[in-house]
Amino acid sequence: MTDGRDSSAAPAPRRRRPRLWLLLGLLVVALVAGTVLVVEQVRSPPATPAPAAQPVTAPTSPSAAPTPTPSATPTPTPSSSAPVEPAFDRSRFSLDDPASPWVVVNKARPVSPVDHAPADLVPVGGGYELRAEAAGAMQAMLAGAAAEGLTITVQSAYRSYDYQVGVFRAQVARFGEAQAEIQVARPGHSEHQTGLAADVGGGGCDIDRCFGAIDEGRWVAAHAAEYGWVVRYPEGKTEVTGFRYEPWHVRYVGVELATELQRTGTATLEEFFGLPAAPDYPG
Ligand SMILES: [Zn+2]
Repeated sequence: MTDGRDSSAAPAPRRRRPRLWLLLGLLVVALVAGTVLVVEQVRSPPATPAPAAQPVTAPTSPSAAPTPTPSATPTPTPSSSAPVEPAFDRSRFSLDDPASPWVVVNKARPVSPVDHAPADLVPVGGGYELRAEAAGAMQAMLAGAAAEGLTITVQSAYRSYDYQVGVFRAQVARFGEAQAEIQVARPGHSEHQTGLAADVGGGGCDIDRCFGAIDEGRWVAAHAAEYGWVVRYPEGKTEVTGFRYEPWHVRYVGVELATELQRTGTATLEEFFGLPAAPDYPG
């Protein structure tokens, strides 16, 4: 019995010893692993500023968790302010009032009253006049072109109802009524009467289709919106505007609307405001 106990007691310590070694082994492994972790943790901080310093350039940084956070911080700002832009208020200004910066005048929408004259005309150079805000915007646009080495000048601006009567009659006398209708607006149907429209020229091409193909005209088409102007009678939109392509005729609508038209790729005021196309005079 004793032997049996002894014999049974003898293997017991033998079993404990391997357990001890096992525990010691595990402890060593744990210590080594712990050391490695500590070393890595000590090493990792210097690694952190490196990718943080190059968040823009380095595509290597995806491994670094802290990097996306600082780079993500400025990103939500433009993306969260972007949805604000589509909320463009299309009813902010009148489309009918001839004093409104957004007034739409075409063959179906005469200036009303028909003999309206703007109250704030100021000189814009070359003996021409525009409404004060449009005049300032014109000077800024011409200065912008000049800064690019392009000389653009005003060839026509505000035209009164009476002046347009004279222009129209002269065109009828010279070319006949049908041709005059295509080339010149009837009195009371000209944007020039609002004091918000102008004809510009330069580069040896004044009030002609060639303006659209030269540097000066291309610059106007590309940059007019930055100054609040739009090329009012673009190519391919005669059925909408009622007028042939006039790369020289610009209309002031303000920077907000001009840039919105450009942003949305909308060529005409009629299309932007959902107004009926005005290919011809009614009746
Ligand atoms: Zn014009």
